[in-house]
Amino acid sequence: MAHPTHLPLTLLSEEETFFFSTVRQFAVEKIAPHVRQMDADQQFTPGLVKQLFELGLMGIEVSEKFGGAEGTFFDAALAIEAISTVDPAVAVLVDVHNTLVVNALRRWANPAQMQQWLPRLATDTVGAYALSEAGSGSDAFGLQTRAEKFEDGYRLNGRKLWISNAREAGLFITFATLDPAAGYKGITAFLVEKGTPGFTIGHKEDKLGIRASSTCELVFEDCVVGAQTLLGEPGKGYKIAIETLNEGRIGIGAQMLGLAEGAWGHAAKYAKERRQFGKPIAEFQAVQFTLAQMATEIEAVKLMVYNAARLKDAKQPYVKEAAMTKLFASQVAERVASQSVEVFGGNGFVRDYPAEKYYRDAKVGKIYEGTSNMQLMTIAKQVLKGAPNDGGA
Ligand SMILES: Cc1cc2nc3c(=O)[nH]c(=O)nc-3n(C[C@H](O)[C@H](O)[C@H](O)COP(=O)(O)OP(=O)(O)OC[C@H]3O[C@@H](n4cnc5c(N)ncnc54)[C@H](O)[C@@H]3O)c2cc1C
Repeated sequence: MAHPTHLPLTLLSEEETFFFSTVRQFAVEKIAPHVRQMDADQQFTPGLVKQLFELGLMGIEVSEKFGGAEGTFFDAALAIEAISTVDPAVAVLVDVHNTLVVNALRRWANPAQMQQWLPRLATDTVGAYALSEAGSGSDAFGLQTRAEKFEDGYRLNGRKLWISNAREAGLFITFATLDPAAGYKGITAFLVEKGTPGFTIGHKEDKLGIRASSTCELVFEDCVVGAQTLLGEPGKGYKIAIETLNEGRIGIGAQMLGLAEGAWGHAAKYAKERRQFGKPIAEFQAVQFTLAQMATEIEAVKLMVYNAARLKDAKQPYVKEAAMTKLFASQVAERVASQSVEVFGGNGFVRDYPAEKYYRDAKVGKIYEGTSNMQLMTIAKQVLKGAPNDGGA
C-alpha cells in the first residue's frame, strides 16, 4: 500500500513495519551466523539464495500473477536496508536482482518475455546486469561488446567485467552494440540465459569488500541468441541502462544505509560493554558524541533513501534525489564504518569483531552504479538546470 503523503517519511505502514522486521529477523537468524565464513570463503553459504527466494525477497515488485510479492519499490529498499545491517554482500544480490534486473524486465520486456522470465526470477532464477567492460566503466556507453544481426537472431562477441551475481545467475541482461560507429544509439539489451553456447563466466574478482558476492568477467564468443531475446528495441539499450540505473542508485543508498546502521549498532553495543578507566567507554562524552554524530548522519541518509524510494513509487521525478542519496549514503557509510572501527579500538582492526568488515564493504558504495563523480555530474546538471537566473530574489 502506498504511503500517504501527509505522514512522516520514516513512519512505516503496518505492512512495511512487518516486512522490515521479518527481513531483519531473517538476516539476524539465518545470515549473521555465516557472515564471517562467507566473507572468508568468498561465497554464500549453501541454501542461502534459495531461502531468499522462499521469503519472497527476489520478486518484491513482481506481480502476483507471475508469482511475485507485488510490493513496492520502497519495499525493495526496506529489504536491502534490513539485509545490509547484517551483510551488505548478501544485500547486493537482492539489490541487483530486484532494482536492476526485475525492474528492467517489468518496464521493457514484451508479454512473452515477461511470461518466460518473471515467474522464474520471482521463484528460482537469479538475475545479473552486464553493462561494464574493461574499457568502459564511467563511460558506460563506450562499450565494445558487439551484437551482429543475422537472419535468425544476433551473434554476440566481447567481454564484460565486474558483473555482480555472475556465479549464481541464470539470466544476464547484456548490453552490446549493433554499430560501434553509432555511439550510444547502437546499444542494445539482450536477455542471455546461462548455458547459451558461446557464453561463459570468466575470472572471479578477489575483492576488498562484499566478498561473498560474486563479481566476474563474462565472455561471449560467437554466442548466438534468438531475436526473441532482444529487450526493448534495437538501439534503445542506452535508455534501459540509464533508467534502470537511475532507480538502482536508490537501492545502493539503501544498502549503504543498512550498512551504516549495522556498524553503528555494533559500535554502540561494544561501547556499553568495553570498560576503561573503571567504566564503560560509552560513559565518556567523546565516545557519546561520536555515536551521536554517527546516528545523526544515519538519520539524514534514511530520510534521503526513504524519500527517493517513495518519490519513485509516487511516480514523481526522482533522478536528482536518487543521485544525491547514493552520493551521500556512501559517504556516510564509509565515515560511520570508519568511526565504528575506532570505537572498537584494536578490536576494530581484526576479523574476530564485526567492525572491519563494514569498513571494507562500505568502499564499493562510492564506486558501483556510477562513481561519486558520476553522481555529482547528474546532480550538477539537475540543480543548475533549475537554478534561478535572478539569484532567487
Ligand atoms: C564490486 C563491484 C560490482 C560491480 N557490479 C557491476 C554489475 O553488476 N554490472 C555492471 O555492469 N558493472 C558493475 N560494476 C562496475 C562499476 O559500475 C564500475 O566499476 C564503475 O562504473 C566505475 O567504472 P570503472 O571501474 O571503469 O572506473 P573509471 O570509469 O575508470 O573511473 C576511475 C576514476 O575516474 C573518475 N572519472 C571517470 N570519468 C570521469 C569524468 N568524466 N569526470 C570525473 N571523474 C571521472 C571516476 O569517478 C573514478 O574515480 C561493479 C563494480 C564493482 C567494483
